[in-house]
Amino acid sequence: MADHQTIRQQLLKQREELNHRINQITADVRHADGPLPSDFSEQAVEREQEEVLDALGEASRRELSQINRTLVRIDEGQYGICMECGEAIPEARLEILPHSVYCVHCAEANGK
Ligand SMILES: [Zn+2]
Repeated sequence: MADHQTIRQQLLKQREELNHRINQITADVRHADGPLPSDFSEQAVEREQEEVLDALGEASRRELSQINRTLVRIDEGQYGICMECGEAIPEARLEILPHSVYCVHCAEANGK
């Protein structure tokens, strides 16, 4: 079985960066939660920024859970095995799409 330690290390590093980013976004949102400016247009701007930060945080959290799922698959020795047909996913595909859980054939068949 292929050794996925390199990908694992990359994912751990990505996870660290994401955690850092999420912490920063959370801190920014908290800051934006402070007293609202009395000016209405400024209030609107702040609310807009909050929405952008929320969306960013949401995307980062999604990415984070995907990384966690992939790490679990690596640790369980399931990584690189197609969930559909059980065939090995080519390394080249994993390099481009480290989170893929289907081989090329099944991914195409499933439209994923
Ligand atoms: Zn397959």
